[in-house]
Amino acid sequence: MVDVLSPIDARVLTRLTPATPSDVDSAVRAARAAQPGWARRTGGERGRILHAVADLIEANLEELAETETRNTGKILGDTRREVRRAAGTFRYYAGCADQVRGETIPVGTEYHTYTVPEPYGVVAGVIPWNVPFFFAAKKIAPALAFGNACVLKPAEETPLTALRLAGLLAEGGVPEGLVQVLPGGRETGAALVSHPDVDLVVFTGHHETGKAIARTAAANLTPVALELGGKSPQVVFPDADLDRVVDAVVLGVFASCGQMCIAGSRLLLHESIYDDVLDRVAERVRALRVGDPFDEATDLGPQITAAQRDKTLEFIAESHSTGRVVAQSAIPDDERLRGGFYVPPTVVDRLADGARLLREEVFGPVLAVSPFRDDADALRLANDTQFGLAAGVWTADIARAHRFAGQVRVGTVWINTYRVLSDLVPFGGVGLSGYGRENGTEAARLYLRPKSVWTSLTTGLPQGYGLGGAGAAG
Ligand code: NAD
Repeated sequence: MVDVLSPIDARVLTRLTPATPSDVDSAVRAARAAQPGWARRTGGERGRILHAVADLIEANLEELAETETRNTGKILGDTRREVRRAAGTFRYYAGCADQVRGETIPVGTEYHTYTVPEPYGVVAGVIPWNVPFFFAAKKIAPALAFGNACVLKPAEETPLTALRLAGLLAEGGVPEGLVQVLPGGRETGAALVSHPDVDLVVFTGHHETGKAIARTAAANLTPVALELGGKSPQVVFPDADLDRVVDAVVLGVFASCGQMCIAGSRLLLHESIYDDVLDRVAERVRALRVGDPFDEATDLGPQITAAQRDKTLEFIAESHSTGRVVAQSAIPDDERLRGGFYVPPTVVDRLADGARLLREEVFGPVLAVSPFRDDADALRLANDTQFGLAAGVWTADIARAHRFAGQVRVGTVWINTYRVLSDLVPFGGVGLSGYGRENGTEAARLYLRPKSVWTSLTTGLPQGYGLGGAGAAG
């Protein structure tokens, strides 16, 4: 049995038995058995069921958000938004379900050749603890829309809302066995991604776990999509609207207590505005209220686990020798929250070249600030990381913004904004931030693969057999 804690006060919320390899095997078999019938339904029928699930999510929004806040420590305003977004994700993919199209390819007069996009079969989803309900939706909804089954393993620390989603899926009309949510940690996840009857693995989490999963899945040649971490820069030129910059910088790294893959954890400021912007950010950070995430006045709750808190505190402690701690806010001394995993939001600058804080993902509320001289220097610093998830650039000069967007090595660039995401817009990373793209038209490419069908239109031997073009090969 594993304790599921609330990071707010370390209280045990429930105890769960992790799924064993034999449970994983049963879940994959049940998913395999249910999938062909689901794929045979029309897209319209699948879409109707996904809409029904979205209705149920919306009807249970408050309960889901409260459970999520209790289990993750994220403020209630954020978890409400995430649950609402999850319903939106089910609706988006409900609309995609009957939009699947193949193509007819005119290879010559002797053939009628077309493609049929087909579901993979059983999709294994493995997700992290930072946005548990929304990520469960983000893996399950497209898998189902495109005719797949899904076996999902939420993070060991935050399984509660994903398990609740399994109930809502059944209530909404998803056939028995088609979706399975398995609680458990690394062993359960490893058993799932190594299962020979899994056809596709979609993973969100840490880059080292991503590497381990890619290695494991390779043994069966199971395709994998990896959404991993980041060390994303926000780059600010002197002609930017600095009021908006300060808001976006503070929310961009301190929301969710820094536990966002897209956290703008590096701030690159042009040297002419360095002191001014740093002062304004520092002032905002000192005023941030860390505390009970159910309290409307709270800006940040705790970190997810004691281990994550300790990791963040280690980065902060190190910064006293590798850089300068510019600002920090207080952590709660409320007796009720004693035992919770709180850390002070912190701003650090003057970091030595090669300092860990400039290169490694903290996944906590710590911002590293550096100056730059000119466009080339800004680009060099922005790209000075093995991660490549996202970047923000702030300037009134449209040509400069697009030059930067074209040259920065990331999957998403925001110009004069930050942290906006949509089901319609492809998302994913480069380098240590992973590979594969989710969302929008890319989702159909991720969860479907084309089958090519050749039909002879002649009665004799195929013409051009053994020649180039529409001839034999392979
Ligand atoms: P993690 O990699 O430790 O765990 C993620 C999931 O993988 C959990 O369910 C865990 O049980 C499972 N797991 C661990 N080892 C496994 C193995 N060997 N085989 C199969 N499954 C295994 O990540 P975390 O600490 O829960 O989450 C934080 C990380 O997630 C950060 O690096 C963050 O940047 C990343 N993240 C990325 C995105 C994105 O979209 N790019 C979004 C959110 C979080």
